[in-house]
Amino acid sequence: MIRRLCVIGVGLIGGSLARALRAAGQVDEIVGSSRNAAHLQRAVDLGVIDRFDTDPASAVQGADMVFVSVPLGAMSGVFAAIKDSLDAGAVVTDGGSAKGCVVADVRRALGEVPPWFVPGHPIAGTEQSGVDAAFAQLYQGRRIILTPVQETDSAALARVRAMWEAAGAVVNEMGVAHHDEVLAATSHLPHVLAFALVESLARMSEQREIFEYAAGGFRDFTRIASSDPVMWRDICLANAEAILAMIDRFEEDIAVLAAAIRDHDGERLLAIFQDAKAARDAFAVGQPAKAEKNDR
Ligand code: NAP
Repeated sequence: MIRRLCVIGVGLIGGSLARALRAAGQVDEIVGSSRNAAHLQRAVDLGVIDRFDTDPASAVQGADMVFVSVPLGAMSGVFAAIKDSLDAGAVVTDGGSAKGCVVADVRRALGEVPPWFVPGHPIAGTEQSGVDAAFAQLYQGRRIILTPVQETDSAALARVRAMWEAAGAVVNEMGVAHHDEVLAATSHLPHVLAFALVESLARMSEQREIFEYAAGGFRDFTRIASSDPVMWRDICLANAEAILAMIDRFEEDIAVLAAAIRDHDGERLLAIFQDAKAARDAFAVGQPAKAEKNDR
């Protein structure tokens, strides 16, 4: 049970956690913080938070759990702002989509990674952002990856695990670097490709006609290109090394595919497509339809 939860960044991810914990009856009071008072007032009106403070240092006072869910580029500023105002015994965790950068931000802001900080990443989301998009069921049955470091206190880790489980999620633990490599492959590369494809088509002179004739395949493949550009800029900068390694690998594979098309090598094309279909079908088995839509 959380007595006072402070959510810094009350958007899709932070707002959904607040809603889920409230729906589960696992939190007494929720305080929100972000830059814009109108956004926070909207969160109060929607019943997502009880009250707000645009100053993160004041907002965290008295909180026993702090969840930081701002874009990756804003994390370090938040940690620097709250570090001297936290209650003794408070646990701080985050929802950032890359973990190495957040751990580095904390180390820079505090001079160390304190035992009460538990890095985390919910593998759930939508292409929507802002508090209006938040919903209590977002984390139901979804994976949360916690990436504790050597310094992380096991009691703090257990409290964050219990919080996510109360929100309906399934919690896994992973090393920081491994997390960033896995997510570069399964989430960051697909988003980069979707953005690149839509941008490439949008620049073609006949773009009006192209989008007029775009059908289900285009819609399915490019839905995630509607995701927040600021968030994705930050993820690409924050996890650059792992994403670049995946882009290099993908370039090699697409070159093989292009060569097969150029050579009219139907056998090779069929083999590639059969392998891909088998892998995709195996992935889809047991995945709820919602999960396929919302993986991040
Ligand atoms: P979002 O809906 O845009 O919410 C971000 C919130 O952060 C906004 O409410 C914004 O409010 C606030 N904010 C922005 N800059 C700030 C700053 N400098 N100081 C304080 N507050 C600030 O974004 P989101 O999708 O929830 O993403 C939040 C985090 O979750 C990101 O780190 C992202 O990598 C991670 N994540 C996202 C997804 C996803 O699918 N969306 C999935 C997993 C993890 P104001 O405008 O009022 O400041």
